[in-house]
Amino acid sequence: MRAVQLTEIGKALTDADVTIPKIGSSDVLIRVAAAGICHSDAHYRAGISKIDNLPLTLGHEIAGRVEKVGAHVTNVAVGNRVCVHYLVHCGNCEFCVRGLEQFCRRGQMIGKHRDGGYAEFIKVPGANAFPLPDEIPFEVGAIMMCSSATALHALHKARFRAGESIAIFGFGGLGFSALQLARAFNCEDVYVVEINPAKLASAASMGAAAIDARSADPVDQIKEATGGKGVDVALELIGSAKTMRQAALCLGPLGRAALVGLTAESMSIHPYTELINKEAEIIGVSDHLATELPPLIEFARSEKLRFSPQTLRVVDLDAAQINAALDAFQDSIDHVRTVIVPSR
Ligand SMILES: [Zn+2]
Ligand SMILES: [Zn+2]
Repeated sequence: MRAVQLTEIGKALTDADVTIPKIGSSDVLIRVAAAGICHSDAHYRAGISKIDNLPLTLGHEIAGRVEKVGAHVTNVAVGNRVCVHYLVHCGNCEFCVRGLEQFCRRGQMIGKHRDGGYAEFIKVPGANAFPLPDEIPFEVGAIMMCSSATALHALHKARFRAGESIAIFGFGGLGFSALQLARAFNCEDVYVVEINPAKLASAASMGAAAIDARSADPVDQIKEATGGKGVDVALELIGSAKTMRQAALCLGPLGRAALVGLTAESMSIHPYTELINKEAEIIGVSDHLATELPPLIEFARSEKLRFSPQTLRVVDLDAAQINAALDAFQDSIDHVRTVIVPSR
């Protein structure tokens, strides 16, 4: 089968001809219908995130049709439309048995630790395949499996509830989903903090209060807009100590700041005046859980989470086109997501 692989760190991905994987009794073979190209794939190619085993087929945002099932697979059948949970976990360790598989001691990320979806077929454990309703296009099923799922996990970790207000720091892929999902939770006011004019305009067009962090301190702006109270929940999706601190400071009493963005910087906080007094919480968020995928899929099926055709760009399973899409992450300012469709 055709696959597009990372063969050398720091070099362009290459076209490869590899054998179709043989499945075990608990695996499924999926004919890939769509594979999202993610910013983290650009990091793997550049060596910013470490990859140990090369060559490797990248791609962790995958949807397709079940081609074969192992004898012990019962949750999906041949011909089913499915999308893929990207974390392969053991199912037996102390974390897996509690449904916290993102901490699995033997966890493997598809498209990082094992071959991913930049290929005609992929083998995954049956437990990683989730039914994809007919109403959801394969392209949307694929890209939902990463940033949208993590945005939902962040809302869950922040214990976000109907009637609460929320500030979203950063309006990239995560923020785009977080805003729609917050609405699906029947949130009160949504504030989107950005410095990019196109993203501010996009957030405003989706009904959020756009907070331009270039014009004044976003914390002051949010405090003013909320009559001095602050918000119930803040999501930091950028990965900067400055915005993490702002996310904590814009909280009202009993507020929760969920930190999703990654940074190597340290942040400072004054515990007494900035946390203790208002019983605020700062919560770390990492990835998402398999149990969150069925509700996420339902949000997409009911169109509470939408990706309009204008936000999707399709490319072939072709190294040159995929490398160009990875290069384009550098200066991307819109919400257009690129998806590989192998059968095009
Ligand atoms: Zn991704
Ligand atoms: Zn485990």
